[in-house]
Amino acid sequence: MNFYELAQPGVRGLTPYQPGKPIEELERELGLSNILKLASNENPLGPSPEGLAAAQAALAGVELYPDGSGFALKAALSAKLGVAAEQITLGNGSSEVLEFAARVFVAAEHEVVFSQHSFALYPIFTQIIGAKAVVTPAAQWGHDLDAMRRAITPRTRLIFIANPNNPTGTWVGGAALESFIRDLPPQVMVVVDEAYFEYASHAGMGAADYPNTLAWVNRYPNLIVARTFSKCYGLAGLRVGYAVSHPDVADLMNRLRPPFNVGSVALAAATAALGDEAHLQRTLSTNADGMRQLTAAFNERGLAYIPSVGNFICVDVDQPAGPLYDALLRKGVIVRPVANYGLPNHLRVTVGTAEQNAVFLRVLDEVLAA
Ligand SMILES: *Cc1c(COP(=O)(O)O)cnc(C)c1O
Repeated sequence: MNFYELAQPGVRGLTPYQPGKPIEELERELGLSNILKLASNENPLGPSPEGLAAAQAALAGVELYPDGSGFALKAALSAKLGVAAEQITLGNGSSEVLEFAARVFVAAEHEVVFSQHSFALYPIFTQIIGAKAVVTPAAQWGHDLDAMRRAITPRTRLIFIANPNNPTGTWVGGAALESFIRDLPPQVMVVVDEAYFEYASHAGMGAADYPNTLAWVNRYPNLIVARTFSKCYGLAGLRVGYAVSHPDVADLMNRLRPPFNVGSVALAAATAALGDEAHLQRTLSTNADGMRQLTAAFNERGLAYIPSVGNFICVDVDQPAGPLYDALLRKGVIVRPVANYGLPNHLRVTVGTAEQNAVFLRVLDEVLAA
């Protein structure tokens, strides 16, 4: 039996998403300890302590199925964000809500538009459905909204915009993004993927025109905003994200949603983390400081980089980055090669603590000098 022939063509043709290398894997391979991972945009300060405490308490009840409606987390999100609970869809990470959006609205005969150098899951979710991916050229490494608008055809059903974009860290400003959304044909849904919303909207990052798109959801019914607890809340391992949309869109996504897609420990942790303002502020200021530290160091070394408002930055190493990535690995530092995103001379590095950034820079100097 050739199972590859049996598989539906969209799945057969998939190239699996390449995650950042896990610390344990590098430990196994090289027998190193003390590994520094700056590869997956995780929170260098760890999880929200309030989230962690709630997770530990919730462990005592894991013989029970979780609340499939996510009532408490939706209530907390609703209060914090000023949207109705009926507008929220919870996901096993926000990646899952991105997939819900695609599966609700896109069929094999449709087209999905996203940008060059944008998030690697968009082509995967498009291809699973068997739909056509329409990739628009980037401008200055970021989204070219005019090119995206021109790419819309009668077959377009969905547009993904990562704001800020991963891996480039570029962002689109509020005025341009709102006029793009306002002009969309009514049958075209747009997902604005805001996995790094809290970082980008922090004053220390200097993106004064970064928008609060939640304020637009009631105005533009084809807008879906996706956010996550994986990044600034430090809960990537627990898998919680959410979408905010028109209530009918949320209802459709909830029909598709597996009933217990977010576990009880994750629900409890996310609900508590949402109220942990101290951890969030520490995280945001650590990131703004770390971003300044890294960009100053790149400037000193004459290394170009793509200005970023996320918790990561792509540095141009001015040579094929693969061998440098390997050399960094051998010295116990995991960053992210981004050749698969069309950026063969860049490395993406997650902003760490001041000490972690200093270790990364020291090891980078060593491998660049070798
Ligand atoms: C990290 C990330 C996500 C979501 O991650 P989850 O852990 O699934 O919430 C979504 N979009 C982008 C652009 C990301 O970088």
